Amino acid sequence: MSLTGMQIFKYLPGAKKAEGTNCKQCGCPTCMAFALKLAKQQVAIEKCPHIPSELKEMFCEASKIQQHEIKLSHTLVTGGENVMYRHDKTFVNRTVIAVWLDSDDKDFDKKLEQISNYEIERIGEKFKVDAIYLTGKNLETATKKVEAKSIAAISEIAPYSIVKGKDFETIEKSSQQALAQNKKDIILELEYGNKRLQDIVEELTLIRRAAIIKRYEPFTYPVMVKIPRDMDTLQIAASASVLLCRYASIIVLPFFNEAILSTLFTLRQNIYTNPQKPLQVEAKVYEFNEPDKNAPVLLTTNFALTYFAVAAELESLPFGSYLVVTPSDGMSVLTAWSADKFTAELVARSVKNFELAQKVNTRKIIIPGLLAHMRDELQEAMPEWEIITGTIEACQIPEFLKNG
Ligand code: SF4
Repeated sequence: MSLTGMQIFKYLPGAKKAEGTNCKQCGCPTCMAFALKLAKQQVAIEKCPHIPSELKEMFCEASKIQQHEIKLSHTLVTGGENVMYRHDKTFVNRTVIAVWLDSDDKDFDKKLEQISNYEIERIGEKFKVDAIYLTGKNLETATKKVEAKSIAAISEIAPYSIVKGKDFETIEKSSQQALAQNKKDIILELEYGNKRLQDIVEELTLIRRAAIIKRYEPFTYPVMVKIPRDMDTLQIAASASVLLCRYASIIVLPFFNEAILSTLFTLRQNIYTNPQKPLQVEAKVYEFNEPDKNAPVLLTTNFALTYFAVAAELESLPFGSYLVVTPSDGMSVLTAWSADKFTAELVARSVKNFELAQKVNTRKIIIPGLLAHMRDELQEAMPEWEIITGTIEACQIPEFLKNG
């Protein structure tokens, strides 16, 4: 945990009204200004000649890196985490999902093509395989081919060192040796072997805790785990999902499988969403399938998951429709309602600001079924529109509109 400006200030002469208070020798007008700059690492601690040794030690400890970031390609970085739990702040760099490929495989090009062509889209984000873990004798040629597809290549010839260990203790020793040899960019590889999943998770948790909380240098590097090749598809999906949550930085799948990848991408998107910044879409009127002026009008909040669920249903219809998306700080309909982000007044104002009445001839708006209790209130706020209660689930929308 880094020190805040106030925590630093407590140790400076300014807080103690001691000799040197606001002496400006550090180049800052006051001790408080220096403390705030130091907290943001915008000034060197040595600039103040009055720093007590206690603060120097604390600052030195707090400045130690918790987990190093390692570059796997021009665009892909792993590691860099600084909290144990996502809700403490946020996780920083998504777990890298890699697929193992043998560079000597006679079908290498075909398999690489299949992997690089695979892409899914979820809640407005596109996901592809991040990296290929290469083995075999043709590493250089294979690396070039992989990188030409804009995928990171992980292998023994990469510019970082892969340090292996079968457990907490052996990986610690290997890392210490690498550090003694002045190796800077390290990836720790925890070998799965015949261990139970819970044992791997325990090892990964110990490593992450030693890095984040204790800032113990041998463990302050991203950790890679390769899923054993003898597992079946379900075991791979289950193991990789658990490791994604606790605490693998890179997961190498033994082979390419679309079902496993889409499962992992979906889980990863949920875990690596910043909890302080809900996924949201722009608040506006969206059009589907070139609606005419008499097309149905639906309404919801700008929570991305809700939007994409409703949008997918509207896109699938053989006729056009409008979707009014109100600003709600990315909250789902019920959350927005309970947080006063979906009030009758706000909805009426949005509909007016979006000039919906000029866009359509219809004067009916379908609201989410979960907000049925707001119907009368909305009706009162928008007397020129007929408010209709819609469905609770997005998947019920097509049936509702066909029957309506
Ligand atoms: Fe305060 Fe130190 Fe800066 Fe003087 S040099 S103003 S004591 S922080």
